[in-house]
Parts: sequence; C-alpha cells; structure tokens
Amino acid sequence: MTTDDVITEGMQRYIDINNKYLADRDGYIRDVVKKWRFDTIAVHGLYNVTDAIEDYQGAIIEPIFMSTSQAYRDSDEMAAALAYKIPTWCYSRIANPSTYYYEWTLALLEGYGYDGETSCCSTSSGMSAIMTAVMPFLRVVKDIHEPRNFVATAQCYGGTFQQFTVRMMQERGIECRWVLDATNIDEWASKIDKNTRFLYGELPSNPQQGFFDVEAVANLAHENNLPLICDSTVATPALLRPICHGADIVVQSASKSLTSSGFGICGAVIARKNLVTNIDDDALKSDFSLCVKYLQNRDFGPNLHPMQAVMTLNDMRTLRSKMDLMSRNTMEVSEFLEKHPGVESTQYLGLPDHPLHELASKYMTLVDAEHDSQYGKPVNRYGHLMSFCVKGGAEKARTFFDRLQRIWRATDLGRIKSVATIPAISTHQQQGKEGRELAGIPGNMVRLCVGAEHPADIMADLDQALCESK
Ligand SMILES: *Cc1c(COP(=O)(O)O)cnc(C)c1O
Repeated sequence: MTTDDVITEGMQRYIDINNKYLADRDGYIRDVVKKWRFDTIAVHGLYNVTDAIEDYQGAIIEPIFMSTSQAYRDSDEMAAALAYKIPTWCYSRIANPSTYYYEWTLALLEGYGYDGETSCCSTSSGMSAIMTAVMPFLRVVKDIHEPRNFVATAQCYGGTFQQFTVRMMQERGIECRWVLDATNIDEWASKIDKNTRFLYGELPSNPQQGFFDVEAVANLAHENNLPLICDSTVATPALLRPICHGADIVVQSASKSLTSSGFGICGAVIARKNLVTNIDDDALKSDFSLCVKYLQNRDFGPNLHPMQAVMTLNDMRTLRSKMDLMSRNTMEVSEFLEKHPGVESTQYLGLPDHPLHELASKYMTLVDAEHDSQYGKPVNRYGHLMSFCVKGGAEKARTFFDRLQRIWRATDLGRIKSVATIPAISTHQQQGKEGRELAGIPGNMVRLCVGAEHPADIMADLDQALCESK
C-alpha cells in the first residue's frame, strides 16, 4: 500500500516505531493465536490483556470506538498515516479499532486450519461484502467496452441474484453466466473463456441448499488463472472453511448465524494472501482484503459501524457450540417433517437421502469435534437451514405458514430463534417466476431455520400448523 510521497526523517521515526509494533503483532499471531483452538480464537481474537491495559483502561471487552476520526501527535505522524505507511485508522469510513478486532477474529476463523495467511475487510452488510469482493475483478483493463463475464451458481441468495442480473448484467453490461448444476464440473468449465474474471459459488445455498465440490471448482478456477469466491454464510467457519479447500475469497453475511442474536446487519470479505487472478495488480493479489479496505471501500464507503462490529464479535464467541446445537436441532426437526403426512418433501443436507448429502458430508464437519471431550472424533454438522414443501400447493403452504405460533414469520436466517419464510413471496419474489424456476424455488416451499429452542417445542408448533383439523 505504498505511495510515491517523500518520507521525511520525522515520518521515518513513526514508521520505525510502527514496524516494530507490526512485527510484534505478527509474532503474537504466529506464535500464540494461530496455535489456539477455534473456540479460543472466537472468544479472544487479537484483543488481549496488553492491549487492554496499555490502550483501553483494562476493558475486558473490546471497546466500541464511536469516533469519526483519529487525532495525530504531529504532522509527521499524520503524513505517515495518510500515506498508509503506518497502521492507522484515520477516519471511521476507512478503518476503526472496533472493526479491526472484528476483522481479525473473522480472518483467523475462516483461516483456521489453513497454513497460509488470511485477512478480512468488514462491510456494512452481506450484499456490500459481495460487491466489495467482485468489483475489483470487474474493472476495465483495456477499453470501456471490453466484454467481461463471470461464472456463478444459479442457486444463490435472492439479493445476489439481483446484484448480478440487474446491477451487473442489465445496468453495466457485465455478463453473469449461471451454472445450473453446480456439481457438474464440465458445466463450470464450459462457461469460462478469456474474458472471464472470477468464479462465484454459494454453498450451501440459501434457500435450496445447493452445494458443489469446492476443491474441484477451486482447481478449475486456478487452472484458468481465476479466483474462486464463495458465499459461505449458511455454513459459517464453524462448519466449513472454503479457503482451506482452495477458495481465494469468502464472503459472509455476518447478519446471519455470525450475529445469531439478530442485532443488526453486517458483512465481511475474507481472503487469502497471494490469491490467483488474471488482473495485473500486485497489491490486490498480495493482500486482497487490505487493498479493498484501504482503496476501493475508502472511495465507495460501505463500511461497518463500530457498534455493530462489537455486537457481532460478541455473538461470534460461542459460534461453534451454537452451530452444533442448532444443526442437531435441525436434524431432529427435518427427520420429523420427513415423516409428517402434511409434508410433500423435506430438503436438508443432513438427511441421508438428500442428493447432495454425500458431497456435503465431505466438507461440512463441526470444527474441532475431534478435539473436544463431547465427541472426540470428527462429526458432520449441516447447519440450521432446511426447507420443505407443504402438501397441496402454494395456498396450503400459506395456510400452514399463517398458523405458526412459536416460529417467527420473517425473511431471516441464522437466528437463535426459529424463523420461517416462504421464499416465493419474500426473498425470491423480485426475481419473478422464471428466475425462481431457474433457482428451483416452488411456491409451496417453506424455508425453516431451526433455532436453539428445545426441538420438541418447534415440532409441536409445526405439527399444529400442518394439521387441518385443529
Ligand atoms: C442474507 C444473505 C446475504 C445478504 O446479506 P445481508 O447482510 O442481508 O446484506 C448474502 N448471502 C446469503 C447466503 C445470505 O443469506
């Protein structure tokens, strides 16, 4: 992140002090934090006693820095900071100490088990995380009319579908080539040409639970000198870490399971350092997240609020145990629904008869299960997103939906509370019938995210709502 400005002696003094600080921090990450288990990283991240005592009056929880900007000691420090020669937060649109801790925790959790380095750029939402991740690859390289395309899984979040079809294709002439069967590697390959900029895949997808072989698609991407971007919102790093399987960039809608309490909207882009791309930009390749944070997002401004950063950080401390519990509850509820006479079909990756069960089982495991006293061996966990189709069509599905009492009717996912929605009239309403058919969303499909309640109470609610006679 260098500029050509002259470096004065005074600036150099600050640079030296900060280089020492950075070397100490990197040593701490390498020698201490990277040796911790997932739960310990989720609880502490980079925030430690030394930071707290020296800088934050001993506060044991990361302070919320509700300040627009940072003051400097003198003009030398300011000049060094604004030329990005020293770590700085400067102005809260660019960076902030609270978002810094949030970013590090996510970089370390998504990079858990990966032997290279990862970094993270926080964003105001999942949608802005996706925009942040894809924009750098869609830049104009030669002339403004050059053809550009990217290849993406058609089974994806409704907002992503809109961003790619309307904002990119219709408004900007950048072609999105949808992969209809993401498990078919030949289909991915057939859509790549010399104008392709990246591959994009959501797994498991929301709400269809589409899945693909991350390793195979990452290999295909790299053979073509392209990055693979994954939306891993539904899995969270507690169940799947695409970077460990070759993906270059992960986007997270942290508004979902990462902030399971439901306290607001928030996102993140996590990338491995030295990623693969056919864009000739060394800064982008070497540290994608830092580059988009300090340059692109400084200029576009989709930054995360420090208050939200700490709220989410607080929720993430117990991510692993929550994802375990909610996955087990979902398994129980899906087995119940599968046998229910009012249900036409049940879709959950955890059910052995799901067509993608085997593939998902290869990738979706509870992190560190082999190291804890409860399991002591690897266990599969499939998250808490499931869906089912109500017998009798769209009308019946709405009747059922309106009868729910404990389960909340909301277009939400990842909550500690059970939440249900009908995608055709909510999340996937805007893309029209044709778009829904492309994505495989029938009108009688109900998306259910089972929370942390006792599953018996959730099953009782589903049962009474499915029963016509009551
Ligand atoms: C919700 C969601 C998004 C968008 O995230 P926001 O935080 O709502 O902007 C993107 N991808 C997936 C898979 C989602 O579920």
